[in-house]
Amino acid sequence: MANCSNCSAPLPPDSIRCDYCGSRNDIDLKEVNYHTTHESESQRICPRCDIRMETIDLKIDGRFLIERCEQCLGLFFDPNELEALMQATVSNVFTINRSRLDSINAAVRADDYGITYIKCPVCTKLMNRVNFGAKSGVIVNRCRDHGVWLDGGELRHLFEWMKAGGKILDQERQEQRKKAEAEQERERVHASAGSGRDTGHPGFDSYGGPLSSEDPDLFAIVQSAIRFFTGKKD
Ligand SMILES: [Zn+2]
Ligand SMILES: [Zn+2]
Ligand SMILES: [Zn+2]
Repeated sequence: MANCSNCSAPLPPDSIRCDYCGSRNDIDLKEVNYHTTHESESQRICPRCDIRMETIDLKIDGRFLIERCEQCLGLFFDPNELEALMQATVSNVFTINRSRLDSINAAVRADDYGITYIKCPVCTKLMNRVNFGAKSGVIVNRCRDHGVWLDGGELRHLFEWMKAGGKILDQERQEQRKKAEAEQERERVHASAGSGRDTGHPGFDSYGGPLSSEDPDLFAIVQSAIRFFTGKKD
């Protein structure tokens, strides 16, 4: 558990704000070496605080620039950068730890901002709120053209999610989804060919099976994850 860098009280799980002294703790980039760069003054404005952000270089495969707000500790990533950072930081995860995935999300506290729509730091259009991935518990603000905003603490949460196998779960669900779609398409073609009585071998393709009902908005989550990871436009 992390401790407050100001008063060293233990931080509440999954929060960057200390309950005792109220200060925000910069915990997102703890596992990443980075350098503040002043060579290019960022023109980008923090959508939470309305001040200029700083550009920092994470030095992954050479230069890897992202923007950070010094005040609220929010981060802005260009398209696909967040994915690349997570890939570079968390590796060797081969199994899904479902109870861990449930418990890290149970610990999430409501953030300081509530449900608000904020402006893209580049084009100032309001960003979309999209689920990051299956059971991630993080709703990110995303501009389809310019990238993704994470509030302070959310990056660390996504690292934890990925370590618990969240990414694998996500991929698994996307595959199930594709399989179910292919199955539906087969049935449609089959039915339109006029031989609807032959239903094939029920159970043979049970892997695809009926999708789990535990997530009623699974479709939306998967769709947004696909859009997010492929950067595909609607
Ligand atoms: Zn404190
Ligand atoms: Zn800010
Ligand atoms: Zn934008």
